[in-house]
Amino acid sequence: MVKLNDNFQKLPGGYLFPEIGRRVRAFQNPPMPVIRLGIGDVTQPLAPAVVEAMKKASEEMGHKETFRGYCEETCGAYDFIRFAIRDSYLERGVNIADDEIFVSDGAKSDCGNIGDIFSADNIVAVCDPVYPVYVDTNAMAGRAGDFENGKWSRLVYLPCTAENGFFPELPEKTPDMIYICSPNNPTGAAATRDQLKTWVDYANKNGSVILFDSAYEAYITEDDKPHSIFEIPGAETCAIEFRSFSKTAGFTGVRCAYTVIPKALKRGGVSLNAMWNRRQGTKFNGVSYVVQRAAEATFSPEGKRQIAETIAYYHNNARVIREGLSAAGLTVYGGVNAPYIWFRTPEGFGSWEFFDKLLYEACVVTTPGAGFGPSGEGYIRLTAFGDAEATLEAVERIKSIL
Ligand code: PLP
Repeated sequence: MVKLNDNFQKLPGGYLFPEIGRRVRAFQNPPMPVIRLGIGDVTQPLAPAVVEAMKKASEEMGHKETFRGYCEETCGAYDFIRFAIRDSYLERGVNIADDEIFVSDGAKSDCGNIGDIFSADNIVAVCDPVYPVYVDTNAMAGRAGDFENGKWSRLVYLPCTAENGFFPELPEKTPDMIYICSPNNPTGAAATRDQLKTWVDYANKNGSVILFDSAYEAYITEDDKPHSIFEIPGAETCAIEFRSFSKTAGFTGVRCAYTVIPKALKRGGVSLNAMWNRRQGTKFNGVSYVVQRAAEATFSPEGKRQIAETIAYYHNNARVIREGLSAAGLTVYGGVNAPYIWFRTPEGFGSWEFFDKLLYEACVVTTPGAGFGPSGEGYIRLTAFGDAEATLEAVERIKSIL
């Protein structure tokens, strides 16, 4: 009989969002409309420049002369999109060659699929709390060990707490693969240059690889926070960077992202760029032409301006949440360089208990911090991706029950 990948049986089940959904559904006849500030999806429409680019590209697909099938260029990405991404890095003084950029259908896929080029024996470090994709994909690949008492036995957990400014300290046990997400989901914290440099130096010294997720870089407002790990000298020999158009330009339903693997990144003399090129060339046929044109439009002057307006809209939501909850006496973090607000539950409340209180008394859906890892206990995550009016209303309701 066929043998299955037993690692899947070890997964504790999609605990967080299904459990939130179950509790919301179980809340019958809420006294007021339920406002959802839990999920990380965007609510504002695509920028007009993006829509125009999609229309134009769709029209091209309908004519023999301009129709496009498989894209033969680097792993299914046209030069125009890779050059636009390369130039956007250059605007921040980061020199990336266009063949170091791999365009895909999502940072989630890339963060998960990247495991293909690494041995199952590697020791993996994740921040705690963490975006669950890093953990679950490594569990599926057999790198996480067994799930016991709320933790995976082979993972190195890097606690990110208020005490360390939600940025991990170097661990005792040296990991081979290190996931860092900045600006961070869920804590909303963004790393400084010095903080990232510590990890870059550490990874170079130990031969580890940093898997750097900067899906939220467009939300950075403070100058001392790097948008890319490649702003840190030495990162080109130890880091892979994941980026996405999802939160930058509302592409959660359109699907487009990219991963940067410098050619200087080698282990045992082998190029990780070449390995990923081989992996993608074999298992992935690229993002549609229409979507690549849509992504390209986000880099046009019009596109940039329109996208900045939407990000400003979400930033305003973040400010409303931050200021409102702080004024109500809660201890609030994040929301300055990220669309996430992370706040401490009031004395005596665990994450899920306070989640229930907010649901039943304020009819506001949040995300309990405990769902992101043991160190998330005692915290709640709110997102700034909601509608502005609903966000304001949610904050007023939360204030009124405190
Ligand atoms: N990385 C982080 C940290 C995220 O929070 C998310 C989405 O919530 C993603 C990646 C997924 O991005 P994409 O929509 O490109 O798959």
